[in-house]
Amino acid sequence: VLRLDKVTKAYGKNLILDHLSFDVHEHEVVALLGPSGSGKSTLMRCVNLLERVNDGQIWLGDTDITDPRINENAIRARIGVVFQQFNLFPHMTVMENIILASTHVLKRDKQESIDKAMSLLERIGMDKKAKSFPDRLSGGQQQRVAIVRALMTDPELLLLDEITSALDPMLVGEVLEMVMELKEQGTTILMATHEMSFAHQAADRIVLLRNGHIIENGTPQEVMEESQNPQTREFFSYFR
Ligand code: ATP
Ligand code: MG
Repeated sequence: VLRLDKVTKAYGKNLILDHLSFDVHEHEVVALLGPSGSGKSTLMRCVNLLERVNDGQIWLGDTDITDPRINENAIRARIGVVFQQFNLFPHMTVMENIILASTHVLKRDKQESIDKAMSLLERIGMDKKAKSFPDRLSGGQQQRVAIVRALMTDPELLLLDEITSALDPMLVGEVLEMVMELKEQGTTILMATHEMSFAHQAADRIVLLRNGHIIENGTPQEVMEESQNPQTREFFSYFR
């Protein structure tokens, strides 16, 4: 679904991503880990075209999305994105937030979008909140609505960037549970997280970034338990 081929990104002289290559296959959940500042968010912003790479290619299916001639909105509609916070527009209801992209960008029928949104909200037990404004929801509910919104365009890939790190610890579980359900439904996910036990449980593969390089790319068992790389062991030792 997603292929990064020697992706390079610098801010001025500061090289953040140095010729990174890895794939995310269909139905796979890949956790992108690494110290703060290692470039996880930068990588996700490059995939979502919020940033342009300096060198290398990113393929979404058969499309080279780093080709300057591509239609950015068409690509973004194929990728669902949820960030750490500020995902919902505060002046719009839950329903208005959820259907925005599907009615305005994809020009889908409004009633059809509402029906689809309702069925997704029902699945997470939040259909009663459709007319509420985001500030009436808990942080966990807001993030679950943000995930629903990201799913409305039937994306090929879901990007989740630290979606629980701004939440009260009590609210983290309900959001992670929703991610587990998506995994079980076969959603293809690339997620950055600091929740190591969740990454171990949910990810099919761990990609570990450090100083602009991928230092690990393997199963949670291989990377988190068996790796003999001192940098890898040092990184995970902070979470024990
Ligand atoms: P965290 O775990 O804290 O979220 P991260 O792995 O997501 O960290 P990034 O946010 O991608 O890290 O940042 C990588 C590096 O790029 C950092 O050194 C950061 O200061 C720098 N950086 C990020 N955005 C910009 C920008 N717009 N301009 C200049 N430098 C930037
Ligand atoms: Mg980040």
